[in-house]
Amino acid sequence: MSDKQGFDTLAIHAGAAADPATGARQVPIYQTTAYAFRDADHAARLFNLQEVGYIYSRLTNPTVSALQARIAALEGGAGAVCCSSGHAAQIMALFPLMAPGRNIVASTRLYGGTVTQFSQTIRRFGWSATFVDFDDPDALRAAINEDTRAIFCESISNPGGYVTDIPAVAAIADAAGIPLIVDNTLATPWLCRPIEMGATLVVHSLTKYMTGNGTVTGGVVVDSGKFDWSASDRFPSLSAPEPAYHGLVFHQTFGALAFTFHGIAVGLRDLGMTMNPQGAHYTLMGIETLGLRMERHVANALAVARWLENDPRVEYVTYAGLESSPWNATAKRLYPRGAGALFTFAVKGGYETAVKVVGALKLFSHVANLGDARSLVIHSASTTHRQLTEAQQRAAGAAPEILRLSVGLEDVADLIADLDQALAAATA
Ligand SMILES: *Cc1c(COP(=O)(O)O)cnc(C)c1O
Repeated sequence: MSDKQGFDTLAIHAGAAADPATGARQVPIYQTTAYAFRDADHAARLFNLQEVGYIYSRLTNPTVSALQARIAALEGGAGAVCCSSGHAAQIMALFPLMAPGRNIVASTRLYGGTVTQFSQTIRRFGWSATFVDFDDPDALRAAINEDTRAIFCESISNPGGYVTDIPAVAAIADAAGIPLIVDNTLATPWLCRPIEMGATLVVHSLTKYMTGNGTVTGGVVVDSGKFDWSASDRFPSLSAPEPAYHGLVFHQTFGALAFTFHGIAVGLRDLGMTMNPQGAHYTLMGIETLGLRMERHVANALAVARWLENDPRVEYVTYAGLESSPWNATAKRLYPRGAGALFTFAVKGGYETAVKVVGALKLFSHVANLGDARSLVIHSASTTHRQLTEAQQRAAGAAPEILRLSVGLEDVADLIADLDQALAAATA
C-alpha cells in the first residue's frame, strides 16, 4: 500500500487486501484465540520474535492487524497497536517510557477522564504528571525536568474544542529530547496529522469519530518510527537488553518498528489491554467513511456554532472555527479542514436555564459520549463535573451555564430547529 495514495483511498484499502485463504473481499472477523503452528521450529521462531506471525489473540489477530495497518497509514506512522479503549491506549503509550519516579508534562486542556488518569491513577505506578497551559511555551519548558519522559496534549481538546499549536509544542519536546504524544481523538487524521507536525506518538479513542456510531470501545497507539530511543539512556525499555526476550534490544532489532513491537510483545502480552476482533471489524467499517463523515461533522458544527453565536439567548460559543475564538488563527493555520465538531456554549440564565435546555432537546441525546453520528449534548455541571465546586467547574470549562455539543450528521436545519425550540422552551 503506497502512502502516495489519497486519504479516502487509504481509508478503504489500507491493511485490507482480499483474504488470502478465501478471497473474501471484506476483512473477515477472525474470531479465534489461537493459530496452528506449522511445526515446533515455526513456534520457536515466533516466540523468539525471529519471525512475525500469529500466536495468540491477546498479542495479534488478523482483523485487528488490518485495523492497525489502516490507522498507521492514515496517520503516516510506522506502526500501530490497537487496545481495548482510549484510556488503555494512553497507558500503553506511556508504559515503555515510564518508570517509578518519572513524570510527564500534560496540557491542562484534556478530556476529563484523562485528567483523572494522569492526576490520580498513574501515581499507583510511581508515575506523575505536571499540568501546564500549552499555549504558554515558557511554562511548558519550565515544567520539563530530568525525570520527564513525555509531553502529552490533545490536538483539538475537550470540552471547548480548543486547538493546540502542535509544531510549537513538538519543537519544545525535540529540544528536551523527549517524545510528544498527541491524543488525536477529536480531530481524527482527516483534520490533523500530528506526526507530520512533529509528534512522536499518536493515541486515539476509537470509540469516538474513528468508529463513528457509538458501537465500539477501542483505542490505538500509533508510532511515527522517528524517535531515536538510543540517543540517551532515558528509554531503557527500548534501548537496553530485554531480559524477558533473552537480552533482545528492541530499538537495535526492530528500528523504526521498535515501539510497535514492544507494544505487542511486552505491552499487550503483559498488560493484556487487547482489542477484540469484532470491535476491530466495526471500526474498520467506520473508517471507510471517515473523510465523508468528518466533512459533514465539521460543516454541521460550523453552521450550528454560527447560529448559536448570533442568538440573543446565548452568551457565547467556544468553537475554534468561529472568528470570535482566540484559537481561530491557529485553527486556520494548522487545521485548515476545520476545527472538529465538539464545542461548548453558555446560555443566558445560568444553571436553571441550561438544565431546561437539555431537558427540552429532542434530537440531541443527553449522553456522556462524543463523536457519534447522532448529535449529543451534555450539561457537565450537573453530570461529569457535579462533584466539583463552581470555581473548579469554571476552570474546567464546565461552568453551570455551559452545555457541550457533539454535532452529528443529521440535516443541520433539523439540529438548529431543535436547539431553537429547546432555547424557547427553557427561556419561556
Ligand atoms: C473518550 C476519550 C478518551 C478515552 O477513551 P475511551 O475509549 O473512552 O477509553 C480519551 N481522550 C479523548 C479526547 C476522548 O474523547
